[in-house]
Amino acid sequence: MALLDLELWDGRHTWCHGYREGLPWWRWGWAPAGLRTRRQIHAAGRRLARGQDPYGLIVWKRGRRTAALYRLDLTLPAARVTPAKRAAVAAMERARRTCRRCQRQRPYRMPMSTWRCWECMAETGDYGEPAVA
Ligand SMILES: [Zn+2]
Repeated sequence: MALLDLELWDGRHTWCHGYREGLPWWRWGWAPAGLRTRRQIHAAGRRLARGQDPYGLIVWKRGRRTAALYRLDLTLPAARVTPAKRAAVAAMERARRTCRRCQRQRPYRMPMSTWRCWECMAETGDYGEPAVA
């Protein structure tokens, strides 16, 4: 198989097997250092930058499978969700689902006009309509 010369983003010279959809491609295991698949980027605790385009392709299973390769140096650290952050989001969600009148938790969010569940709204007749002036 013919190999094509390729100059990388950092000036390194390497080769690729050819081009597919305008992107250089390599067989599995032959991509130059600094390129990663989405899965590998995620595993490294990083994420793609907004609008980051693939740099190349990895091709395996005799060309039947492909995966995009991205420049690792352009990716960003992924925001790790800390336990404290997760707890805060859960508490917020609980508050949104808790009726301020009967204090029961409902499977839906309370309307912000009344903060009351549907049962309480029916009981009190207060559906949160603006008061008639
Ligand atoms: Zn209620």
